[in-house]
Amino acid sequence: QVVTRFAPSPTGFLHIGGARTALFNWLFAQHHGGKYLLRIEDTDRKRSTPEAIEAIIDGLDWLGLNHDDEITYQFSGASRHQEVANHLLAEGKAYHCYCSPEELTEMREKAKAEGRPMKYDGLWRDRLASEAPEGIAPVVRLKMPLDGETVIKDLVQGDVTVANAQLDDMILLRADGTPTYMLSVVVDDHDMGITHVIRGDDHLTNAFRQVQLFKAMGWDLPEFAHIPLIHGADGAKLSKRHGALGVEAYRDEMGYLPEALRNYLLRLGWGHGDEEVISTEQAIEWFDISGVGKSPSRFDFAKLENLNGIYIRNAENTYLTDIIAPLIEKDEAITITNDAKNRLIKGMSGLKERAKTVNELAESAAFYVRARPLALNAKAEKLLSDEGKENLKNLLPLLQEHTEWKEEILETTVKTFAEENEIKLGKVAQPLRAALSGSNVSPGIFEVMEILGKEESINRITDQI
Ligand code: GLU
Repeated sequence: QVVTRFAPSPTGFLHIGGARTALFNWLFAQHHGGKYLLRIEDTDRKRSTPEAIEAIIDGLDWLGLNHDDEITYQFSGASRHQEVANHLLAEGKAYHCYCSPEELTEMREKAKAEGRPMKYDGLWRDRLASEAPEGIAPVVRLKMPLDGETVIKDLVQGDVTVANAQLDDMILLRADGTPTYMLSVVVDDHDMGITHVIRGDDHLTNAFRQVQLFKAMGWDLPEFAHIPLIHGADGAKLSKRHGALGVEAYRDEMGYLPEALRNYLLRLGWGHGDEEVISTEQAIEWFDISGVGKSPSRFDFAKLENLNGIYIRNAENTYLTDIIAPLIEKDEAITITNDAKNRLIKGMSGLKERAKTVNELAESAAFYVRARPLALNAKAEKLLSDEGKENLKNLLPLLQEHTEWKEEILETTVKTFAEENEIKLGKVAQPLRAALSGSNVSPGIFEVMEILGKEESINRITDQI
């Protein structure tokens, strides 16, 4: 059975790259009928926060990436991680290192002088504990192979080789006995039965070292798939300006639908022919690692916005209303009644064609639920000139007579009124729009009238004349 995991460190929000990693893991598991697990890597006690954990869980939930089983909190497994280190010590595959800070500084300076990266020189690998200096608490290091090479058969990167001489004896337990990140990741991946490690390629160098730990324990290696990172539109590393923001910013500040963002993230680094709009069902059916590209993908807001527009257009009216109603309530500091909510639902058909974001949609729909008397924008004010008001005054009795308040009939009434009084339709329709919506732009005005209903329409007109 395929088991994947997403393993974020809760030191900040769920950023866009992390969300994509989670999506790929989730899709891969779904595709194979396997499991997708969530592991919060909270071993960095100083930088991990409950707020970040909440933001990550919330972001994943919003994107619909539900994990199987309980969440694993890495820190709670510390004693298990120590147990593994002690086992390796007992087997002679790890050792205590009593290097003093001075000795380590010396090694670092030597490396610097020789222009190479610092590598622990294995000083304590074969020394006896009886030689240990006093007053130094040892760390536990893994004995790395000294020669040969390690090859990772990465599902995205292909065969990647490193000379073992490059790998230094990594620390498993710190001097205070706490496990290192490297140890915890490997133990957890093994204990959780992870079959596929799918993550950003910034972890590729870690993989070489992690592989040694799997081998030292005699554990089966998972498959690795290191995905190229996301870059900005200009090809540079993703920065805030490019969109390296928390998922909640895409939801709250930018107004994207989760389906649209998910579709966009899927296409960011993975492809299936020329398909752009891909439903979740399709994505599950098609997703495979072989469709993941080898070069970094570029984040493109225009594409995301375009997709979002498509998803908004295709979304159910009630679904959209449930999203925008709270936004309007917040923006306008109002409470939306059930009646008003029904107006929003009906209004969606005429509004969603034009909106690229849910924020735009909320803004364009707010007039349906605003309290009377409506404030007018400057252009609406102009439309309600004396002449405009006069026309509405004359039209009003005809509207009041209406028993059936339907778009087509209302249109006939207003058109006939304009013809009989020899005024251009716009001279009535535009002031009507201004009075009913408070603005010079709105969906078709007769549609608006029908949705507002007779009483509200008449009241709004009366307010302005
Ligand atoms: N916790 C790591 C991160 O947030 C991921 C580790 C992994 O996927 O192996 O970058």
